Amino acid sequence: MHILVTGGAGFIGANLVRRLLQEGHRVTVLDNLETGSHGNLAGLEGALAFLEGDVTRPPSFPEKFDRIYHLACPASPPQYQKDPVRTLTTNVVGTLAMLDLAAASGARFLQASTSEIYGDPLESPQKESYWGHVNPVGPRSCYDEGKRAAETAVMDHGRTRGTDARVVRIFNTYGPFMDPADGRVVSNFIVQALKGEPLTIYGDGSQTRSFQYIDDLVEGMIRMMENEAGFAGPVNLGNPEEFSVRELAAEVLRLIPESKSALEEHPLPLDDPKRRLPDISIAKEKLDWEPRINLASGLQMTIPYFRKAIHGT
Ligand code: UDP
Repeated sequence: MHILVTGGAGFIGANLVRRLLQEGHRVTVLDNLETGSHGNLAGLEGALAFLEGDVTRPPSFPEKFDRIYHLACPASPPQYQKDPVRTLTTNVVGTLAMLDLAAASGARFLQASTSEIYGDPLESPQKESYWGHVNPVGPRSCYDEGKRAAETAVMDHGRTRGTDARVVRIFNTYGPFMDPADGRVVSNFIVQALKGEPLTIYGDGSQTRSFQYIDDLVEGMIRMMENEAGFAGPVNLGNPEEFSVRELAAEVLRLIPESKSALEEHPLPLDDPKRRLPDISIAKEKLDWEPRINLASGLQMTIPYFRKAIHGT
């Protein structure tokens, strides 16, 4: 198949693109390199078509696509908050443009949505039927509300234009090709531990997340895209093992025993969700999917990537 991956030079995109190429597909990447990088696609130059461009003003494509994975958007809080108007535009205008492209191409479309659409949830674990608890006017709103509006766009395209468009809600994910300067907790802790700097715990570190290894996510995304039952979602893709931020810090330090890093408390960012835990019953039932890689194994596969990114070895 000919597959377009928007945001294909980012962390998830770079992993997805490799898997799609391994499966023998033709891949085109559209990325504006706002948070993605050429480095993430190093070695694939001859194997894929790369277009530097923005989903809000897409180029005209001479050929049709069979599948569009729409990932383009900065996803780390410090990154998406740098220019919130742009983040909102990317999510809303960009998703509408990519849906129009899917409709014109006759392509099947997968939207990379997020657990952020649940906001600071009042229910845990979060089921897809939960509508969320989201601040519409806070510092995270450009992303949370943008991704919510994007889900609306996907579902409305399906209902009114007949576009075969589907939604996955991605929970915290980590692994190789994360930007060391991305600002998220797993990358920050590993980089800090490797450099011997203090691990920055925001708040008291009792807030929880569930951390999914990238290969599990990529498998779930492909299963969702390729399910022939026409199941459009939304479906949660995440690891239902819950860890506090302090537990994550302890695990990172256990796996980097040479680290001399201490823990250092910093203020908790505004609107930082206290808990995040996916209910994955629907993914199990509809996609026969569940994560296979636990936190310790996933971190062990991720630490060498960061070691190389930082120290070059
Ligand atoms: N966090 C932290 N130290 C860091 C970065 C993040 O304690 O250096 C916390 C953050 O406040 C949040 C959790 O870790 O409670 C996950 O943050 P991240 O930015 O990775 O993703 P989020 O789930 O908030 O989108």
